[in-house]
Formats: sequence, structure tokens, C-alpha cells
Amino acid sequence: MTRILVVEDERDLALGVRANLEIEGYEVTVAYSGEEGIASAAVTRPDLAILDLMLPAMNGYEVLEALRERYPELPVIILSARAEETDRVRGFRTGADDYVTKPFGVMELMLRVKALLRRTASAPPSAPQPPARVRLGTVEIDLQNRNVIRNGAETSLSPKATDLLAALVAKAGKAVSRHDLLRDVWGYDASVTTRTVDAHVAELRRKIEDDPANPQHILTVWKTGYRLRSR
Ligand code: CA
Repeated sequence: MTRILVVEDERDLALGVRANLEIEGYEVTVAYSGEEGIASAAVTRPDLAILDLMLPAMNGYEVLEALRERYPELPVIILSARAEETDRVRGFRTGADDYVTKPFGVMELMLRVKALLRRTASAPPSAPQPPARVRLGTVEIDLQNRNVIRNGAETSLSPKATDLLAALVAKAGKAVSRHDLLRDVWGYDASVTTRTVDAHVAELRRKIEDDPANPQHILTVWKTGYRLRSR
């Protein structure tokens, strides 16, 4: 069942939206504040969020940023009483997928929900695809077959170490935070911590680096994460 999170502090409106969404067959959770919405998203893992901009305490933009950080793929429709163009632009910049100005007709919102779900369901993966083969100095790595050739010797990589390397290759030369690596490689598995990233980096270094204690390819970026040096 498609789950929708509604974050709206005006109770009548929130309950009206919920009733209509439920008639359409969606499973709906209502949160009356941003904090509640973020907490609720972690539990219900919604397929789409409808988010009011004018919320008490934490405003809609802050909630949107927090949701985006945790769930980059979550489709979000912003609700706002403010029709100014600047709000619309800011909403999209922060990562809203659609924007509905109050007062709105319930049918309009339902159609936008449907259209957005359709659009995001068929969207191709947005992550950059790394090449299948990577050369780091004299080391050659076949990402597809999880194979490393170093000094004429062949070793294999674990699936997660391969994914981790692919994530670093996709951002070669740039510092990638442990948090981003966790998200890209492990998704949202709450049981996995940044220690796991470090453990897999250690595995990669053992297999790729001539001297794992003094790495030349997978570099540590102090207090941040890692950076792949491809030369
Ligand atoms: Ca409001």
C-alpha cells in the first residue's frame, strides 16, 4: 500500500486531506509539527510526503531539508498559503517536487499526488554509474566481477567493499563523508554505523594498496570520510 505522510499543523485541513487520501486508497499518517513529521517518516517510511511550509517551531523548509538529507528519493509536495514566486523557487531549490498554493481544491491535490507518484515510480536511478573497470596506479579493478589484480595477483572483493569502491569512484577526487557512503552503499539500514564504512575501507586498502597503513589511493579525509585518488 502506498504510504503518505501529511505534515500540517492546521488540524481541520490535515484531517480533510487525510480523509480524501484514504478514500483514494492511500495509507496516511498525519503529523502536526515538523519534528513529529521527521520522527514519523523514520517509522512509517512514506512513499510521498505532503508538507506545509508554515509550521510552528521548525518551519517547512527546515523539515524539507531534514527529510531530503535522510531520504533523497522521497517525493515531496509543498503546501503553502504564500504564493510569492520566491517561495516557489526556494521550495524547489530545497528539493520539493511539486508545490500547491492554498487555498487549493482537494481534487487538485489528489491529482498532483497521483502524478508525482507515477513520475517518481518510473524515474530512472539518478546515481551516477561508475565504469565497470577502474585503474588505480598499477592496480586494476573489475567492479562488475568484483575482481582486483595487483602485482599480477588476483583477489576478489566482497559485494559491499565493491559497492563502496564504486561510490568512491563515482566521486573520485572529492571528499566523500562517511554519512554519504553509508547512505549510498547501505541505504537506510539503521543497524549499520559509520564503523562499518571504516571496516570496509580497511578491507579495500588491504586488497588495493601496496602498503595499507600508508594508503595512496583511498585517502582518509580528517573528520570527514574518504577520498579516492585515481592517479
Ligand atoms: Ca500551517
